[in-house]
Amino acid sequence: MISQTSQYIPQGPSVSALNERIWNEAVEETRRRSPASFEQWFSSVQFDELDDGVLTLTARDEWVRDWVVAHFLPDLLANIEQKLAGGETGEAEALRVEWRISGNVERPVCERRQSVRPKTLEPTPQSRRSERPLPGGYSRAALAAALNPKHTFSNFVVGPSNALAHAAALSSAGGSPGYNPLFIAGGTGLGKTHLMHAIAHKVLEERPDARIVYVSAERFTNEFIEALQHHRMDEFRSRYRADCDLLLVDDIQFLAGREQTQEEFFHTFNALHDADRPIVVTSDKYPQQLQRMPERLVSRFTSGLVADIQVPQLETRVAIVKKKAQLEGIELLDQVAVLLAQNVQSNIRELEGALIRLAAKSSLTGRPIDEEFAQGELLLVAPRRANLVSVEDIQRAVCHHFQLSNAHLISKDRHKSVAFARQVAMYLCRQRLKCSFPELGRAFGNRDHTTVMSAVRRVEELRARDPQVNAHLEAIEQRLASSSES
Ligand code: ADP
Ligand code: MG
Repeated sequence: MISQTSQYIPQGPSVSALNERIWNEAVEETRRRSPASFEQWFSSVQFDELDDGVLTLTARDEWVRDWVVAHFLPDLLANIEQKLAGGETGEAEALRVEWRISGNVERPVCERRQSVRPKTLEPTPQSRRSERPLPGGYSRAALAAALNPKHTFSNFVVGPSNALAHAAALSSAGGSPGYNPLFIAGGTGLGKTHLMHAIAHKVLEERPDARIVYVSAERFTNEFIEALQHHRMDEFRSRYRADCDLLLVDDIQFLAGREQTQEEFFHTFNALHDADRPIVVTSDKYPQQLQRMPERLVSRFTSGLVADIQVPQLETRVAIVKKKAQLEGIELLDQVAVLLAQNVQSNIRELEGALIRLAAKSSLTGRPIDEEFAQGELLLVAPRRANLVSVEDIQRAVCHHFQLSNAHLISKDRHKSVAFARQVAMYLCRQRLKCSFPELGRAFGNRDHTTVMSAVRRVEELRARDPQVNAHLEAIEQRLASSSES
């Protein structure tokens, strides 16, 4: 009967069919614009309906959804809205998008062809079988949740202090770096985790089905203990071995002294290494300096490439703080960027913290972030840092830098190089500890306070116009900062 009805009553296409056609056309245009990545993502997305100003889509997981929202949706929606506006109403209405998440995308927007991938990231037959995360198995949503979306290569400022680590990370993300593992060593807050996330983002962008496992050594340890407790070692092992195309382990120093976890990690490492799967490890120490770490692990760590990250120079710090300001939408004067970079030297996390504090305070008080405001705010933070060092620490750092003994530094020797080192030490004490001039005179071999005053003034002047003097000071300040942190 139904077929009869449709024979007798001629019908135009239904609204939903029309809307589906609009969707198809729009999505085709998106495909034409980004043919390379389209398939990677839209093979995990399903069109459900476009009805009443609401576009409903299903994504295989949150990661796919977030990626499509960030990279494709704005253009796609604009396109659909335009097409809808060309219809009967003639008005462009903003569409609302509703997402469903389902591991079972039955009618994907497009089928996925097999991509050609570097050998090192080729999934195992097992992974082809299990496209979807299994309970306790590989989960891209978990990866997405662990990655900071801002920690990308494009947001990473490269300078002499991190160029090697950056290049090595880029090359690891490229698929066949020629070394395995990559070991990134560097102090706290210098960008190790950022680089690791950047690798994951880049690999996902280019090879979305690569199974990347990003884990801190602490989490690895906890999961291992849990797996032992609940007799789930098989799952644990497949997560870190069979189901893993790229393993990123952050802060490996955490394994120090944890013998059983070290043992497990050693076998994980070997399994992946033997299968030619890339491993990237970060650490706050060089492999040889890792305490209570078995020799066989240390030798594995040094068997690939060890790339270090040093404390960045002033110019790089200025560039980083500017980049951060740009990312956060904070208007930052060049002078203020320099001021921040001069004052917070050894830890980029702290540098960013100082910037965010300034911006927050400025928006609360309505004061623009000018030099005077920034100076005042930095002074509030300075005593906390200054407490961490003493006159003796500064003298020691200066002596170390200029290769002098402490006795020599505070002696009456007026030889130019000794006198310069002494003036530098006085300047640093005055600047960082805010000691009075007579106090400093006493600490430097009972000198007159006017001697200290002129020393401080002289170094101030020299620092402003002589880059070499500035470089000496920075090197000593970095030394102080790292010793006060440890
Ligand atoms: P680590 O893991 O070495 O302790 P992180 O990677 O967490 O340090 O970095 C701390 C902060 O500093 C992060 O917000 C990171 O984005 C930022 N950062 C560090 N180095 C750079 C850089 N070269 N360019 C941009 N941001 C950086
Ligand atoms: Mg880190």
